[in-house]
Amino acid sequence: MLIGEDILQVRTPLVCFYALRGGDGLYLIDTGFFGARRALANALEEAGWREPVRGIILTHGHIDHIFNVAAMAGETGAWIAAPRADAPYLDGSYHYTGPARLCGVLEKAAKRLAGFRQFPVSRWLDDCSELPVWDGLAAVPLPGHTEGHTGFYCARRRLLFCGDLVASFRFGAQLPPAIFNSRPELIPASIARALALDLAGVLPNHGDQAPPAVHLERLRRLKMAIDGALGNC
Ligand SMILES: [Zn+2]
Repeated sequence: MLIGEDILQVRTPLVCFYALRGGDGLYLIDTGFFGARRALANALEEAGWREPVRGIILTHGHIDHIFNVAAMAGETGAWIAAPRADAPYLDGSYHYTGPARLCGVLEKAAKRLAGFRQFPVSRWLDDCSELPVWDGLAAVPLPGHTEGHTGFYCARRRLLFCGDLVASFRFGAQLPPAIFNSRPELIPASIARALALDLAGVLPNHGDQAPPAVHLERLRRLKMAIDGALGNC
């Protein structure tokens, strides 16, 4: 689904991800899970985008975002950028605790059953890392869902690719289920950090086909609810 003239939202049943069209090629933000390679090929064909994929940019290390990295990078020669603080998720060494222990079990099982392949990261991202693609994408750490969970902000377009900061559907934005959040106590500050940016819209990886401005409005409402629950207002 085209969102504007140079953002393609590639949808699969479990998760979506994004293809961006820059002046020199295409860039992916995450790579989806089952069915994503076919969905990407179909979406590019439908949009008539024939440029090469130059780079793959990861918001975090959960399998539904990184499952196809090895295959897609192998096919295209694209570089791979990922948050440094999520390196232990990428290599499977992260020690999940609390309710997220179940997430660790599911990740391990899914990687084994689905035949997950490791991949080399070309560039590790830290706070304030800037990728010189698509008018500039700034890495904005939004930890909580994972230790290094990161959004990507394009100041010129006032858009934030917010990964799994929230899921956003018709009934509103909500936090990811508790078992998938490694450091849930960090999420309210990450939502506040996201909303402190100058924004026209946000683009989540789990959500309906609403425009970015609607996802932003839902995120703002969720923050108000969280602030109310925490007694911050
Ligand atoms: Zn996730």
